[in-house]
Amino acid sequence: MIKVNSHYLKLKSSYLFADIARRVRDFQEKNPNVSIIRLGIGDVTLPLPPACIKALHQAVDEMASASTFRGYGPEQGYDFLREKIAQHDYQARGVDISPEEIFISDGAKCDTGNFQELFAQDIKIAVPDPVYPVYVDTNVMAGRTGEFKDERYEGLVYLASTKENNYLPELPSQKVDLIYLCFPNNPTGATIGKEELTRWVNYALENKALILFDAAYEAFIQDENLPHSIFEIPQAKKVAVEFRSFSKTAGFTGTRCAFTVVPKECVIYTEQGNPIELHKLWLRRQTTKFNGVAYPIQRAAEAVYSPEGQQEIKNNINYYLKNAQLIRTTISDLGLHCVGGENSPYIWIECKRDSWEFFDLLLQKAGVVCTPGVGFGKCGQGYVRLSAFNSYENVQEAMQRIKNIF
Ligand code: PLP
Repeated sequence: MIKVNSHYLKLKSSYLFADIARRVRDFQEKNPNVSIIRLGIGDVTLPLPPACIKALHQAVDEMASASTFRGYGPEQGYDFLREKIAQHDYQARGVDISPEEIFISDGAKCDTGNFQELFAQDIKIAVPDPVYPVYVDTNVMAGRTGEFKDERYEGLVYLASTKENNYLPELPSQKVDLIYLCFPNNPTGATIGKEELTRWVNYALENKALILFDAAYEAFIQDENLPHSIFEIPQAKKVAVEFRSFSKTAGFTGTRCAFTVVPKECVIYTEQGNPIELHKLWLRRQTTKFNGVAYPIQRAAEAVYSPEGQQEIKNNINYYLKNAQLIRTTISDLGLHCVGGENSPYIWIECKRDSWEFFDLLLQKAGVVCTPGVGFGKCGQGYVRLSAFNSYENVQEAMQRIKNIF
């Protein structure tokens, strides 16, 4: 008899975005004349930058000729892309990361989800609350948690990110081995300064813990005092892995390209306490289970670093940030507390009622789709997330409709 991985049965059955889609579908069926504005799911709306499209076309043409055709590429990614990343994203900011420490992948979702398989079964894991669900669910699937009770999985340490702590979780009061952090944050849009991030790095150093730092929204950082990478913090290379993505940076959500930085100095430990290089383990994992990102896609990602590419992604990010600014001011003017939107495409709004109730209010009365905060964790109850990924005209219209309800 073929048996199921019973840990999958612990996963809470309703999936947030499926629930949202169902409610929107029901509403649209009953109200076919309402034009719905979606400020819910965090997918980009602007097309790929022209520099990327040009590089993509050229690379496709190379694939059409026997002399330039490429088959399997290196599992860790082509050097041309890894070198550009090391130089532009790290060395240019004074961070000593080498191309060999960079692993190109088809998404930060897969990488943040897959990374946990390098760790022992009985580690103690801390996750922020609210949280990008992938960190939690992949550990549930791997059997590192108990059952889902009272909106939380038993066995995980939840780090509350609330209005009281300015959406920056406190260090865990108990000893943990693995910590997931995400800044600029999804869903809150909150950012972390160097001083606060240093506290996390020091905690990891003192406790022989590891930080998985998700910087998928790094490109939205405008404040010059904020770190773009955890590796800007002294000694972080010993205790952190960083995930980045071209999805939100350059509109690659459908094109798929991301990267993970695993410094060579970073170690984890055997049962006996002997250090093991994490870089070697991830290399072994990737070369066994992954066959690399398509050559044309990596060429398109490389074009992000050309002068034209840099200008074009900056224009796109500024476009979304202008939307975010409009959302922020409208919501604040309505007297609702909100955070995010200044260095992030997300605005986290305290709605002073149940998240789903507010979701239904915006949908029924304004035809606007948001994301209920409770879908990201217990601490998200009473909040909703609005995303700046839409046209400026639609955001203007959505804000006008929301103003009309209040
Ligand atoms: N990490 C966070 C925090 C995200 O919000 C997302 C996507 O929404 C991802 C990772 C996934 O990125 P990718 O498209 O590279 O898989």
